[in-house]
Amino acid sequence: MEQRNRRLGRHIPDPVRAKNRKAIVDCLRRRGAAARIELSEQIGISPATVTIITSELLEDGVIREKQAETGRDESARGRPRTRLELNPEAGFAVGIKISMHQASVSLTDLSGDILGAETIPVRANRDAPEWIADICMKQVQKIVSVSGIDPDLVLGLGIGVPGYVEYPSGLVRWAPVFSERDVPFREIVEERTGFRTFIDNDANMTALAEKWFGVGRTFPTFLVVTVEHGVGMGLVINERLYRGSRGFGAEFGHTKIVVGGALCRCGQRGCIEAYASDYAIAREANILGPSVATDDPIALEARMRDLIAQADSGDPAVVSVFERAGSMLGTGIANLVDILDPPVVVLSGARAHSAKAFYGALRQAMEANTLPGTDTSVDLRIDLGGDQVWARGAAALVLEETLI
Ligand SMILES: [Zn+2]
Repeated sequence: MEQRNRRLGRHIPDPVRAKNRKAIVDCLRRRGAAARIELSEQIGISPATVTIITSELLEDGVIREKQAETGRDESARGRPRTRLELNPEAGFAVGIKISMHQASVSLTDLSGDILGAETIPVRANRDAPEWIADICMKQVQKIVSVSGIDPDLVLGLGIGVPGYVEYPSGLVRWAPVFSERDVPFREIVEERTGFRTFIDNDANMTALAEKWFGVGRTFPTFLVVTVEHGVGMGLVINERLYRGSRGFGAEFGHTKIVVGGALCRCGQRGCIEAYASDYAIAREANILGPSVATDDPIALEARMRDLIAQADSGDPAVVSVFERAGSMLGTGIANLVDILDPPVVVLSGARAHSAKAFYGALRQAMEANTLPGTDTSVDLRIDLGGDQVWARGAAALVLEETLI
């Protein structure tokens, strides 16, 4: 199918120029804005090269000149240097996040600001992928039309799903949101829209959101752990998202924490997800009643809200359920910290806001299980972004693939 026109990318750079172009865009992403001479000093390329490449980027609309603030001249001679910044209106990105009980659709500019968003209820593991794609596309068309932007300026569509996503092929090998395996979801969506489409594990997209708009502006290496219906992870090493050799990396939820332990949705036993995710917590609490079907996403969401409230009001049995889950996740994160030694770990996803007992146990387990002396050096941050994070993740994915 013919791809929609894109206004960007008129300059097709050779590999060296592409590398320098990427370095300049990355530097502006981190710093917000910079003068040409600062770019030259920071990146270590000549001022002449910076001038050539920034001219191309300006012409392509990827960057823009930042207006100097009056009365705040930066140079000693009184004339302000022209600073450059990424152009948030260089294009737009559509994001779709598919979770167990809903699909969230958003339209953002390239600074990740949301211009329009809709949430559609789906029964993800019961509805066919084609049907989910159809209803998402109706929302995409509606949002783009209401926003009044030219559809040709939509650079691409970023989709996040939980599970094993083979990034290069766009195949969803396994995901709890689809009842089938090996779903060619990228192809299904591209056929319906004509937009360039990128599909990734949802935790990877959260990590990209952090890279472009969050902790990644300060830290070149960090990891993100997501927890809600499942447990996920995104790993950025030296400013690059790590996807592994086949595109499945970096999986965390299905690493094993108890040999021969609790049964997981993936069919194996002892995965961290089988202890720390929503369905695992609800399954454990079912014995306390009222029992809910853990594969019913809407009932599960309501049950989690009740359980968190019960735990926070001090119900000892429910507190013990959250403590066990938090302890398992904290031990798993401690293992990651020992392996990777990241300066920052970001906790994200809906259950970044869980019961107090969950966090207490999580932090305690991290402290008890990291190598002595390392626990204090890890900065554990709770992401407060909610749905904004996913929309920004989609924008970041499209930026990574189309902008540079
Ligand atoms: Zn598993």
